[in-house]
Amino acid sequence: MSINPKKRILTGDRPTGCLHLGHYVGSLQNRVALQEEYDTFILIADVQAMTDHFEHPEILLKNIREVVRDYLAVGLNPEKSTIFVQSMVPEIAELAVYYLNLVTVARLQRNPTVKDEMKQKGFEANLPAGFLVYPVHQAADITAFQADLVPVGKDQLPMIEQTNEIVRRFNTLYQPVLTEPEGLVGAVSRLPGTDGQGKMSKSIGNAIYLSDDAKTVEKKVMRMYTDPTRLRATDPGHVEGNPVFTYHDAFNPDTDEVAELKSRYRAGKVGDVEVKRRLITALNGFLEPIRARRMPYEKEDKMIDEILISGTARARKVARETLAQVKNAMQIAYPFSN
Ligand code: ATP
Ligand code: MG
Repeated sequence: MSINPKKRILTGDRPTGCLHLGHYVGSLQNRVALQEEYDTFILIADVQAMTDHFEHPEILLKNIREVVRDYLAVGLNPEKSTIFVQSMVPEIAELAVYYLNLVTVARLQRNPTVKDEMKQKGFEANLPAGFLVYPVHQAADITAFQADLVPVGKDQLPMIEQTNEIVRRFNTLYQPVLTEPEGLVGAVSRLPGTDGQGKMSKSIGNAIYLSDDAKTVEKKVMRMYTDPTRLRATDPGHVEGNPVFTYHDAFNPDTDEVAELKSRYRAGKVGDVEVKRRLITALNGFLEPIRARRMPYEKEDKMIDEILISGTARARKVARETLAQVKNAMQIAYPFSN
């Protein structure tokens, strides 16, 4: 009798800082919801972080542990979700080397996420080759675990498309051993930053972190951008595109309160300060249980490291199996290798 194996999830984060509300609604929330149903692999992408932080690799160790704390805080359970460090699974890097032959430089240069990030990081003139090929590395991350589903923010969808092209090319050229993944975008596909500009991002400094304390949340919300066309509380205001309301929609469970605030705002019957005060209450209500779950691990490195040791061992076993299948399909599983 054959048992139907669970479908797999692969997802992850770069250890370049703590995780924020954008990470939560874009991807973390789905991971927590699906960790029972799927065999979940969560990669802490230190190799990928290096593509734009190679001059500061010393930040990685601290942030790897912070990211694990954030995972535990949002309710990821290491008994159910395999949490591991990318550089400690060298099979991924080996897969990436083979995949590099299946992609053209022109295709990588057309990848919209790469294009946006190159601009944002000012890489146009001096583009590190490692940065250009990081989508190929992501294809290796995903396929090493034969993932069926990848919970991501919307900005990452071109990476899944790029992965699928590599998978199809590999499967046609050699043998059909690789799985084509699907992306799963979160409840809010792109949460704006507190500055109302683009997406919430650690590198822009417009983020509210899952580990921020109540006072910090208050300060950040009070400084938030609202509706630039509204000068007085009695002017009719815009709710659409106003990040304060986007956050209310995403994090305030009291939908009646949100609806009432919106109609008063549109009618010029409520000031920014009241809308923000209520947002502070909602956000702190949302973050309180997350902070409480994080607390026991705050000063605790040993337990965190143990989670990574066992997660990495499990991940490596799976990646090793895929690499063996890949080499076999490519006819480079030589009789004189073991
Ligand atoms: P940041 O983008 O905050 O500087 P990062 O680039 O290291 O940090 P990623 O590792 O790219 O963050 O993000 C991890 C996951 O969270 C990705 O799937 C990404 O799409 C998602 N994500 C990040 N920021 C947001 C956001 N503001 N809204 C929705 N999803 C997001
Ligand atoms: Mg990013």
